[in-house]
Amino acid sequence: MRLPKLRELKEAVNAVFSPRFTTRFPAEPCVVPERYRGKPEFDLEACIGCGACVNVCPTTALTQTDETGGMDGHPPVRRITLRYDTCIFCGNCQDNCTTEKGIKLSNQWDLAGLDRASMAETHEYDLQTCEKCGAIIGTKKHLVWLYEKLGPLAYTNPSLLLAKSGELLKEAPETMQAAPEEVQTSDFMRVLCPKCKCELNIRL
Ligand code: SF4
Ligand code: SF4
Repeated sequence: MRLPKLRELKEAVNAVFSPRFTTRFPAEPCVVPERYRGKPEFDLEACIGCGACVNVCPTTALTQTDETGGMDGHPPVRRITLRYDTCIFCGNCQDNCTTEKGIKLSNQWDLAGLDRASMAETHEYDLQTCEKCGAIIGTKKHLVWLYEKLGPLAYTNPSLLLAKSGELLKEAPETMQAAPEEVQTSDFMRVLCPKCKCELNIRL
């Protein structure tokens, strides 16, 4: 009977003279480990709005909507929304980012709040649509990124050349509002979707 009591007494004395195991938060700031996985943060310089991260997010914390503009004349836009109240900090978005720098998990951990609606952020990217049929091709930033990635090989693709030279359409093309005409050989130097480009190549 005495031995267990002596062991407990020893443990109590050890605990009194040991360093503290708990933190003093909120009296002192919480220091998280170097590789802590907290709130995902976009780097809007490096993010091209391609949507790859949206496709790999297991909880739909990342979502994407594309608006092609149209009759009211507003330019086509892609919106990517991050809801960090549904994020599980798995890191899939960071690991699969096309540019490898567009989104990274930060060390922000204190994300609690009372209003779920405020736990979201949305970023907008200009969309490029096909000048012939109005189909969505991708974001303008993505086309420019591809041009830079491909180097001289990009010269085989007029859409990428036009993207780089800043000649992309500022607004939704007229052809989105009217019935699309057949692709003509004169469309060679226009921004075309893969389907229209294929038709053009058959015609050439
Ligand atoms: S960390 Fe995981 S759950 Fe959170 S946004 Fe990225 S992919 Fe989605
Ligand atoms: S995968 Fe990277 S570059 Fe593409 S939208 Fe997500 S964060 Fe941006």
